Amino acid sequence: MINLSTFETKAVIIKTQDFKENDKLVWFYTEKLGKITAVVRGAKRSKSKFLALTLPLCYGDYMVYKGKNLYTLQEGKIINSFQGLLDNLYKLTYSSYLCELIDIACADNEVNIELFRNLVTTLYLLNTDALDYELLIRSFELKLLKTTGYSLILDDCSICRKKISTSNYISLSYYGGVCDECPKEHGLFISKGAYNALRFLMNMDVDKIYRLNLNNEIKEEIERVTTFLISNNYAKKPKSLDMLKFIKE
Ligand SMILES: [Zn+2]
Repeated sequence: MINLSTFETKAVIIKTQDFKENDKLVWFYTEKLGKITAVVRGAKRSKSKFLALTLPLCYGDYMVYKGKNLYTLQEGKIINSFQGLLDNLYKLTYSSYLCELIDIACADNEVNIELFRNLVTTLYLLNTDALDYELLIRSFELKLLKTTGYSLILDDCSICRKKISTSNYISLSYYGGVCDECPKEHGLFISKGAYNALRFLMNMDVDKIYRLNLNNEIKEEIERVTTFLISNNYAKKPKSLDMLKFIKE
């Protein structure tokens, strides 16, 4: 039965939680409805048709019914379950991080088609091993910031708005590069290589970033900038990458 409260949309599962005896709560990041929470009746029963459809990271076509407080999952079809991402610690951590970022940065029911497409493309690329994981994640972070209203100003000085070709400083109060004449306060000095790479990553589609080849120092500089912006702009600080940092040290 189709009625006005039923919606069909593509979605990625960003989080799940047990609910009551046999049900599950599922957080979907959807193309048409933004982030929503749905109850999935009987999802924990071993014979449930919803079992495979409600695994974390699963990307599919879903039909949900909008109730008074929550959505209810009615039907679904898997497009890509992305379960291959669970076999490798790095891929698992990075894909959990992508989901955590969406959860932290997006309010319920806020539609952002560009961000949705970036999430799906990034999961596909992470799954294929075609690209440097870290670059992929930095590119996603910058696009997340851009599409949620925290774009960095890199073509002009973020203080006086004069056109600049490059800079060695990112102002964290003005959100962007600073020219040679303006004061360099409350920000980070970065190499020109890192500045140019930031601009490239922010403007280039995620599937084109293989053209960029960066050394570890530049990657670390970019990570410092994105980590700062993410922990300062959103209500919660993401935790998914903490374990990788622990392993690397
Ligand atoms: Zn200036």
